[in-house]
Amino acid sequence: MKAGEPVLEFRLIERIRELTAQPRDDVRLGIGDDAALLAVPAGKELAVAIDTLVEGVHFPRGTAAADIGWKALAVNLSDLAAMGASPAWALLALTLPTADPAFVEGFAAGFAQLAQPHRLALVGGDTTRGPLCISVAVHGFVPPGKALTRAGASVGDAVLVTGTLGDAAAGLNALQQPRRDDDPHARARDFLIARLNRPLPRLAAGTALRAQASACIDISDGLLADLGHICHASGVGAEIDAALLPRSPALLQLHDDATALHFALSGGDDYELCFSVPTHRLADVQADLARLGCGVTRIGRIVEGSGVRVRGHDGAWLPTDRQGWEHFA
Ligand code: ADP
Ligand code: MG
Repeated sequence: MKAGEPVLEFRLIERIRELTAQPRDDVRLGIGDDAALLAVPAGKELAVAIDTLVEGVHFPRGTAAADIGWKALAVNLSDLAAMGASPAWALLALTLPTADPAFVEGFAAGFAQLAQPHRLALVGGDTTRGPLCISVAVHGFVPPGKALTRAGASVGDAVLVTGTLGDAAAGLNALQQPRRDDDPHARARDFLIARLNRPLPRLAAGTALRAQASACIDISDGLLADLGHICHASGVGAEIDAALLPRSPALLQLHDDATALHFALSGGDDYELCFSVPTHRLADVQADLARLGCGVTRIGRIVEGSGVRVRGHDGAWLPTDRQGWEHFA
């Protein structure tokens, strides 16, 4: 860290190191030197990704430190999941308004809670002073040439998604409403808020899809926007059916059909996977993901052309000019 209090910052880094300790043979040198030394296993490709969370942009002010720590890692692991990669290492750049030990303690605990079951080691980072902002870079392994990409979807492929859509957007909406003590929908609200704050990266599904899917992306900016990226990268179009979109009981309990549909199509932050599969592999994919306990739903198909079209309940195409969440909209 620069421009700070060196002793306190040293303690913060030391505490982060303790809380995230994860022994791995391939970490030759972790936190504490000028750079980490890492051994990429022979016969693997390295998949790397980085994502930044800015307070007030990517999570609301007042989000618990542990939730921020979890989410900062989760959004990155979700990128590895979408590539079919297995996580190994992470770097953490933490910008803090003050050297706040309680925040760091909570943050590192939330981060470690997600890192540990995946045996992910935090191997280094940077700590600076400024408006709250977190960048995490992750590194994972994938067999050479076997990574899933956004390109590769072919006309006739089925389009599927894991889990349910729109929950995180509804969670954000729930946080923005005043909370009542006698709220009859408290459990549904808590579920949706947890979907926003504690997304579960679909890592097992991603590796299972490696041999099956023709293209894959994680849904961070909303289904329309992210499926649109698959279409663009693959040089195809997609048609999806509004009636097929998987929506959670909690979402449907709190919102009418039109709002729930809007969240499912355009809400960000769900971190489910959207992927295309040749139809002859459909049954295998559905069985594989069911075995992993991962919900999966066929929502449409890849067609000639470009862009995503959505068929409404009455069979007519919905107007979809607003394509998902855009940071600079
Ligand atoms: P340098 O000035 O050489 O970059 P730093 O004082 O920034 O060193 O960091 C010292 C060590 O602590 C390095 O190994 C660095 O990777 C690690 N480190 C610093 N901040 C973090 C952090 N937020 N999370 C994990 N490791 C960190
Ligand atoms: Mg140095």
